[in-house]
Amino acid sequence: MQDIPVQKIKGIGEKFSEELAGMQLFTVEDLLFHFPYRYDTYELKPLKEWMHEEQATIVGKVIHPPTVQFYGKRKSRLTFTVEVENVAIKAVMFNRSFAKNQINQGDIFTLTGKWDVHRLQITVSHYQKGPPKQDETIDPVYSVKGNITNTRLKKAIKAALEQYASEIDEILPNDYLQAYKLPNRSSAIRSMHFPERKTSLKHARRRFTYEEFLIFQLKMQWLRKIKRESSVGYPHQYDEKELQTFVQRLPFKLTKAQRTSLAEILTDMSSPFRMNRLLQGDVGSGKTAVAAICLYAATTANKQAALMVPTEILAEQHYHSLLKMFGDRVTITLLTGSIKGRKRKEIVAAIEGHRAHIVVGTHALIQDEVMFADLGLVIIDEQHRFGVEQRRVLRNKGLYPDVLFMTATPIPRTLAITAFGDMDVSVIDEMPLGRKKIETYWIKENTLERLLEFIKKRIFQGEQAYVVCPLIEESDKIDIQNAVELYEKLQIYFPKSINIGLMHGRLPSEEKESVMTRFIDNELQILVSTTVIEVGVNVPNATIMVVYDAERFGLSQLHQLRGRVGRGDKQSYCILIADPKGEVGKERMKIMTETTDGFELAEQDLKLRGPGDFFGKKQSGLPDFKVADMIHDYRALETARNDAEEIIATGALEKNEMFYPLLKILENDPVFTDKMD
Ligand code: ADP
Ligand code: MG
Repeated sequence: MQDIPVQKIKGIGEKFSEELAGMQLFTVEDLLFHFPYRYDTYELKPLKEWMHEEQATIVGKVIHPPTVQFYGKRKSRLTFTVEVENVAIKAVMFNRSFAKNQINQGDIFTLTGKWDVHRLQITVSHYQKGPPKQDETIDPVYSVKGNITNTRLKKAIKAALEQYASEIDEILPNDYLQAYKLPNRSSAIRSMHFPERKTSLKHARRRFTYEEFLIFQLKMQWLRKIKRESSVGYPHQYDEKELQTFVQRLPFKLTKAQRTSLAEILTDMSSPFRMNRLLQGDVGSGKTAVAAICLYAATTANKQAALMVPTEILAEQHYHSLLKMFGDRVTITLLTGSIKGRKRKEIVAAIEGHRAHIVVGTHALIQDEVMFADLGLVIIDEQHRFGVEQRRVLRNKGLYPDVLFMTATPIPRTLAITAFGDMDVSVIDEMPLGRKKIETYWIKENTLERLLEFIKKRIFQGEQAYVVCPLIEESDKIDIQNAVELYEKLQIYFPKSINIGLMHGRLPSEEKESVMTRFIDNELQILVSTTVIEVGVNVPNATIMVVYDAERFGLSQLHQLRGRVGRGDKQSYCILIADPKGEVGKERMKIMTETTDGFELAEQDLKLRGPGDFFGKKQSGLPDFKVADMIHDYRALETARNDAEEIIATGALEKNEMFYPLLKILENDPVFTDKMD
């Protein structure tokens, strides 16, 4: 079917096939899989049951023949009256003046269109002489192009089915069809184009939804497996005993999720494959703690390990907390852009001479001058902050180092496997015990006074606050809170004893650092800022996060901001100032006040925004499904994912002949022919 040109179909000549080619339909298969994008369903019911603005179907007798008015350029409006259940209904058709001659007094017509209950009027989109043939009809609507009409296309598809239906081979194993009660491929195709009833259409769609998801998931997971197995790595023999002692000496017990993730990472490290793993976990879930253990593990295998973070402040914070954890068991070195001159030379030399065991740093780590003696593990924090190239450079500083990425942006489970197709993923989906929930409130600006009083009280008790505004300068069109203005306003409002800092993206980086350092040291009690503080800064004494114009942020971003507080043992608060106009905005605020679980928020965000938006259209890498919908058919996606997991993990894809048709499809996919480097 995939190599039979459409000309072979009876009734399709050269001209028609050229027109079809214009729609990218070249083969019988293309044509049969050109599914309708919508179905108009006509169902008969009493007049009074139709709702206002609903698509309605009525049957009536023409009691007043059409009149046509022309207006504008080639526009027309045709009106006539029909009688339905003894009620006179006005029918309106736009730009179909030709219909005037087809509609005569006394004729019976079936009319479908938008129903106006107040005017007793129908705006007709579809009409047919005579009464309807059935009580329920489903009319497929195709996307068409050029001279091709819906009707011609339908005819062509019908002819194709008559001629080639027997050649449509099943690709899903029978067991699966039976287990999920799915129709076979051939009859499902028929139902997609010529559904007899709603249920047959429903099952056909179910079938293709599953088929598309299964192929997609098999593809992703097989690719991951092949890449993993063909990667050249180095089995790092870390010292298990020493590592255990180290973990036991930590001031806390690892959570179950931390232990699972740690085990997954350590297994990768000691395997002969090269680790390529993402560690996902909400802010404060303890990723950095896990990372520290892995860094240490690498050193027990006599390897160097590097931790790269996006900002100097973060690098310093990590450096100091690692120093505390490791004491003098290993040598930890800090390398950032602001370390210069002789000191820098010494550090670079120590890295090259393997005198530095663990190196923490910023982009400075990927400069040419930095050469590791024996780099075995690379950890990249907030991975999305670095470009592909930067990540690659760091990775290439060692001989097949294992690589661990970390992100605090929770990706919904359903999408994780899509977003990071060729990465293994570990998830820390539980918070350390005893963590206090951050209380979140949504307020309108008119209660600001109360909020400021609240902040004052907290600050007098020794705590600190962030105040976030979306952008630095007023844009002419959008009315946004101006950071500078707010900073000045707050300075007037609060007594002199409360020091306020201002932070935004246009400050020179030294000034940013100094503002941040003063906030960390509690020399500043309030930090007015644009979103630059978003990246993992840790100021446990800060307990209040105020976000202005919160409706302008996405859920994930709000959640990241909220994660800046609640890092110590004090009760923390997040206050969202927002006056969203739309429903989605209101919903967002509500969700924020209701849940602090990053994964749940991500799922909700996904539902509100759709998968394309969630990742940004370009990088989403989501396939264009014909039938399936990632949000709507979420359950089917999960089922398919689990099935694919089993098929791949057991090797059944390649061994069991019932998967042969699927295997063939995968093998022919460009992903497997091009990308096998
Ligand atoms: P993340 O990097 O995911 O934001 P961190 O690793 O920085 O989280 O952990 C946040 C805080 O929680 C740190 O102060 C850390 O010492 C502490 N912590 C980490 N794991 C645990 C645990 N299992 N129990 C208690 N506290 C923990
Ligand atoms: Mg972190």
